[in-house]
Amino acid sequence: MELLFEGDHHDHPYEHGTIFCVGRNYVEHIQELGNEVPKDPVVFVKPDCALRHGSYNIAEYPPQTEALEFEGELVLLLRGGGRNVPAFGTADIIAGYGVGLDLTMRDKQNEFKSKGLPWTLSKGFDGSAQVSHFIPFESAPPFDELGFSLFINGDLRQRATTNQMIFSPEMMVSYLSRTCSLKRGDMLFTGTPKGTGPLGIGDKIVMQLHTTNPSEVLLDFHVEVIEWR
Ligand code: MG
Repeated sequence: MELLFEGDHHDHPYEHGTIFCVGRNYVEHIQELGNEVPKDPVVFVKPDCALRHGSYNIAEYPPQTEALEFEGELVLLLRGGGRNVPAFGTADIIAGYGVGLDLTMRDKQNEFKSKGLPWTLSKGFDGSAQVSHFIPFESAPPFDELGFSLFINGDLRQRATTNQMIFSPEMMVSYLSRTCSLKRGDMLFTGTPKGTGPLGIGDKIVMQLHTTNPSEVLLDFHVEVIEWR
């Protein structure tokens, strides 16, 4: 799938690569789920079937769960980087910024975690990685001046700024690249702040990527929850 940018973008097209996700990157969300603050980022991946990319998306409610939850997150699009990316000066491997939903079957995830099993299917089902268009790196504010908000049916549910993250993009990218070679088109979900919660069929989610001032909106992203087909 070709990944799309908002506004002027003069780089070559980006085919989507691996969908990397970081968990536990905001202290208040870790407390919310009763987890420990990690020493290193917690990383998992989503399969290709998870990806839905656009400005107006739909998310199907899987029949395997009674607790589909939203996790609003900032998403980085990578230019590449390969292995052993240094922890500083990695900004030039970021091609763009977007927002996304790491959709989660929370009941299934908890069940898998309690049995010590991989949680893949609880976070890797069709449509579980909802990704907006991207703002090109060149025309975006610096990473530490970004934020996002998430509304469900018009109610504000999550709002965060990047300076509340435990791990910076440089740290996440560098850490990941010690184990996985990063390539053009790879994406990185950067974790969710406090406020995650359940979704129902018919819910309309709006996410806004903005600066640290929520009224300075850079990008809108819409997802509607529908029945599994
Ligand atoms: Mg997440």
